[in-house]
Amino acid sequence: MWTALSRAWTQRREAQALRRHAIPEPLWQLTLLRYPFLAERSEADLAELRRLCSLFLASKEFHGVGGFEVSDEVALAVAAQACLPVLRLGLSWYEGFVGIVMHADEVVAQREFMDEDGVVHAFEEELAGEAMEGGPLMLTWSAMEGLPDPAAAQDQAIFNVVIHEFAHVIDMRDGWADGVPPLANSQAREQWLAVLEGQWQRFCERVDAGEPSLIDPYGAESPEEFFAVAVEAFFVAPKAMRAEEPVMYQLLADFFKQDPAA
Ligand SMILES: [Zn+2]
Repeated sequence: MWTALSRAWTQRREAQALRRHAIPEPLWQLTLLRYPFLAERSEADLAELRRLCSLFLASKEFHGVGGFEVSDEVALAVAAQACLPVLRLGLSWYEGFVGIVMHADEVVAQREFMDEDGVVHAFEEELAGEAMEGGPLMLTWSAMEGLPDPAAAQDQAIFNVVIHEFAHVIDMRDGWADGVPPLANSQAREQWLAVLEGQWQRFCERVDAGEPSLIDPYGAESPEEFFAVAVEAFFVAPKAMRAEEPVMYQLLADFFKQDPAA
C-alpha cells in the first residue's frame, strides 16, 4: 500500500517537474547542434535524454559567479551532457549534490604539493571544472560553449569538461575518487581494478612515447583521471574510442549499459 502510494506521489512530482521544466524545441535543437555526439543518438535515446534534462534542471541549482548569467541555454548545455552518462542508470547517481557553480572563464586555483624531500611547492592551476564529493560542482562556460569545428584535426584528443566532471561524480559516489565507481560486489570491483590498472599502464606508456591518442593525455596523471578522460571519449567519439581502446570501451559499455558506437 505504502509503496503504491509512494510511487504515485513520485510520479506526480515527476510529472510536475516535467511540465515546469519542459524544454522548448528551439533550445533543444540548438543544444543538439552544439553537441553533435548528442544528435547522433537514436530518437528513443533523445526522448529519454530530454526527459532526464527536465528532471535534472528541476533538482539542481545553478549559480553564476562574477556576473556570469546562467541562461536557459547554458543550463541545458550542462544538463544534456551531464544526463548522457546516466541515461540508463538514472539521475539518483547525482543525488549527492545540488549546486552547480558556473564561471565565464577558466579559474586560476592556488595549489601546493610536497615533494619527496618534504619541500612544499606552490603553483597555479587553470581549472575548466572541478567536482568535489558532496558538491558543489564547478564548470566554466568558455570551456564548453564552442560549436564543433569541422576542420579540427582528426587525431586531436577529446576534451569535454561536463562529461569529465560528472564522470568524477559517478566515480566518487562511493566516497572515493579512485577510478572505480560503485559496483555490484567486491568481485566486480577486483575485476574492474585489474582492467583499469592494466589499461592505464598501457596508456601511460603510449603517452610517454609521445603517441597521439583520442583519450586526453591528462589521463596519465592517475587512474581516476584516466577513468574520467576515457568516459569523455566514450561518449563524445564512441566509434573512434572503440577502435583505439576496445578493452576500456567494453568496460564502460557494460557499466553505463550503453553501446554508443553501435
Ligand atoms: Zn579530472
